[in-house]
Amino acid sequence: MGERFLMDELPWSVDRDAALKRLRVMEDDLEDFDEIYEKTLALIKPVYYAGVETVEQNDGSGVVIGGIRFDSRVVSVNLKNAKTVYPYVGTAGRAAYEYALGIDDEIMRYWADQLCEMAFKSAAGSFILRMREKVGSEKLSALAPGSVIDWPISQQKPLFELLGDVYAHTGIFLEKSFLMRPVKSGSGLLYVSEKHFESCSLCPKENCPNRRAPFDKDKFEREYLA
Ligand code: SF4
Repeated sequence: MGERFLMDELPWSVDRDAALKRLRVMEDDLEDFDEIYEKTLALIKPVYYAGVETVEQNDGSGVVIGGIRFDSRVVSVNLKNAKTVYPYVGTAGRAAYEYALGIDDEIMRYWADQLCEMAFKSAAGSFILRMREKVGSEKLSALAPGSVIDWPISQQKPLFELLGDVYAHTGIFLEKSFLMRPVKSGSGLLYVSEKHFESCSLCPKENCPNRRAPFDKDKFEREYLA
């Protein structure tokens, strides 16, 4: 197994005013919101577990990394020139997730959930900055199971196997559906590439609030089946 490292002191923040605006909190609800805001933020503890691995085989329809095969033309083509990959998994933390789940009031539960989401995005940005420093390149792209057209979410399982004891380090586990719990978590493979890759360009999901690039319906056939 290659090097592994834990990042559990990543800077993150959730601006109260930005949260009020995003969640459209009414004036009458400010007191309740502030209570949820304070309790949730006190429990958020982002943690990332990541590693360094070598691409051992790449045959055009999949790759072998750390002795584990990942089947995907997109992964294979994108890693064509990459010898090293950085598998990772990260979360906003279990405690805040469990606190949010346990709130009876639907609106307040939604606030806590969204505060976790905002914290996770903030920490994810810090994680990428740290990884750029560690790798020594600004040109990091990411591939994530379930957000790449031919790399299904079930490939979370080999990704977790590659990383090692993810649960012990982060508290993240996979459900039978391969969704991560806590839900405000992310995972994937980072790699250095001159050509930036955005998985959203291959993802047809409609009305996704996190979309970072338009869906290009011909891209898969054009760039990955040729
Ligand atoms: S559009 Fe949304 S679901 Fe699809 S890859 Fe982008 S962020 Fe993920």
